[in-house]
Amino acid sequence: MESSSYNPYQVAQSQFDKVAALLELDEGVRELLRQPMREYHFTIPVRMDDGAIKVFKGFRVQHNDARGPAKGGIRFHPMETVDTVRALSMWMTWKCSVVDIPLGGAKGGVICDPHHLSLREQELICRGWIRQVAKNVGPLSDVPAPDVMTNGQHMLWMLDEFETIHGGRFPGFITGKPVGMGGSLGRTEATGFGVIYVLREALKVKGIDIAKTTASVQGFGNVAQYAVQKCTELGGKVVAISCWDQSDKAAYTFRKKSGIGLDELRGITDKFGGIDKSRARDLGYEVLPGDAWLEQDVDILIPAALENQINGTNVQKIAKSVTVITEGANGPTTPEADEVIKQRGIFLLPDFLTNAGGVTCSYFEQVQCNTNYYWEKDEVLAKLDTKMTSAFAAVNDLAQRRKLYMRDAAYVIAINRVAEAVRLRGWA
Ligand code: GLU
Repeated sequence: MESSSYNPYQVAQSQFDKVAALLELDEGVRELLRQPMREYHFTIPVRMDDGAIKVFKGFRVQHNDARGPAKGGIRFHPMETVDTVRALSMWMTWKCSVVDIPLGGAKGGVICDPHHLSLREQELICRGWIRQVAKNVGPLSDVPAPDVMTNGQHMLWMLDEFETIHGGRFPGFITGKPVGMGGSLGRTEATGFGVIYVLREALKVKGIDIAKTTASVQGFGNVAQYAVQKCTELGGKVVAISCWDQSDKAAYTFRKKSGIGLDELRGITDKFGGIDKSRARDLGYEVLPGDAWLEQDVDILIPAALENQINGTNVQKIAKSVTVITEGANGPTTPEADEVIKQRGIFLLPDFLTNAGGVTCSYFEQVQCNTNYYWEKDEVLAKLDTKMTSAFAAVNDLAQRRKLYMRDAAYVIAINRVAEAVRLRGWA
């Protein structure tokens, strides 16, 4: 969870400022790119199941659309803040740019906790969110998608509300839809698989055989689970995962030195994503404190939960054995921790490159919707692999040539492309 002093927007801006200075960007371009172009803040009144009206706060922030329609997810989270959404919208711009898809960056959110909402109440929040921004989003201007605690069902309710308001069918308005309802095969797996495609390329460059590596993962949501699946398929051994337990309001690490079993853990996970501790023990897992995932003697760490997870207070706990950190989450590492990781020479695969598989597949989903022709899953995943592999190669190549930290190299490529689009349009 975020600490109150941590502000992800300040982190995103300071990362940007550093690279803008390196690139010697013009003042006007800098001013334009270091903040969102548009923001919508609104209320969503909902009649709850008990008959009372509850008013939720919603946001949509469009950071930049110079390279194409703004793109980014909507998260439902009780700790959501507008600064978190601003930071995430900025990271979406860099994410779409670094994998070179013709989209800009946006993010949305609602301050709410789906764990305590019925499906009917969640549907009303989704429809209310769309009603408030229906004129400001659309297939050619801003295309939402799922994020933390939202899924294909939420996207479909939103699509239905948008289509009702605008009168017509606009399947390209939103991505992450269920398969058969305009969704793309492979979208569910895309972010987690993409994380491992990038890791696989990084290990090749380092001359490390993935089959000889061990990994520890933070998170057990969509990104983490598919990352574990792909890593295991390629021969890697994931020995620990950490998972948030909603009923205890605490996280736990589940460790099995012979390698965790994804299916056996999925089989003992409740509907809130919490893993049953006593059944895990019966299956041979050690149940450790939530932050133990970070201290494991492994080769690879994969933070795939939320922002601000590797920070000044815990970065020193990273074991000497760790050679690669693969950021599956958005903004998991604070600048303070990042500096330590850089000094230690750990090969860091930055978030907006590594987890770009989700939005890349969203782009494929849009293409399929717009042509009304849907691809086979193998085709989607092969195209995803190609995109992720070439984005990694470009970033790694620049990092080698200019002796840059991987995060800075990814920023240089992403910001340059957006700055060029802004200049070509004559905006700055
Ligand atoms: N929420 C995902 C992300 O942070 C996907 C966004 C999208 O598909 O537009 O990358």
